[in-house]
Amino acid sequence: MNILLVEDDPVLKNGITHALQKNGYKLTSTDSGNYALQLLDVEDFDLIILDLGLPDIDGMQVLRNLRHQKIALPVLILTARDDLNDRIEGIKQGADDYLTKPFDLGELEARIHALIRRCYAGFNTHIQVGQLSLDTQNHEITANNQLITISARETALLEMLILNSGKVVCKDRISQRLAASGEALADNAIEVAIHRLRKRLEPYQAIIRTVRGLGYLLEEETNGG
Ligand code: CA
Repeated sequence: MNILLVEDDPVLKNGITHALQKNGYKLTSTDSGNYALQLLDVEDFDLIILDLGLPDIDGMQVLRNLRHQKIALPVLILTARDDLNDRIEGIKQGADDYLTKPFDLGELEARIHALIRRCYAGFNTHIQVGQLSLDTQNHEITANNQLITISARETALLEMLILNSGKVVCKDRISQRLAASGEALADNAIEVAIHRLRKRLEPYQAIIRTVRGLGYLLEEETNGG
């Protein structure tokens, strides 16, 4: 899980960063709302922790821009303003949860965990596409209760496609994600991985479609499709 933290208080930023990294989350942080919007254009995040009082543009503006671009990421708002109007405005603009400062880091972790479960898997930790099933807690992908044996890179790619099933995943976002796992990416690495995955998924009623000029989309194969 890749989290974007937008927070300008250095002490809080460090505290949250350490706590979440210790829990295995990948974290990118910035104190600028404008920079956060630029990052959201080029990198794939699973969740945003967003402070409202930022030095440049207001966190609420970041949220508005995000929703305006139809980016449906879960957003957890942090704010010092214990104000009912802010709370209502945040929810109206599409925030998924709200935490008022000061808060306990343990509570933040619990909220994030709950939000990820709610947004990516309903109340279930398994997401099903065709006969494929992703366990979002241990990152295992199975078909008919058998673990699918594919490389770490293919697993990362397939996990991304399953989490976004039915939606196009841009090639840029895929290369960002695969590059983040450390290995250098050859020019055709994504095509090669997609090709191998397609072959592997053939028996499981899950099909990866190419959306020309955009990226890839995973969906359940229906009869005749
Ligand atoms: Ca602030």
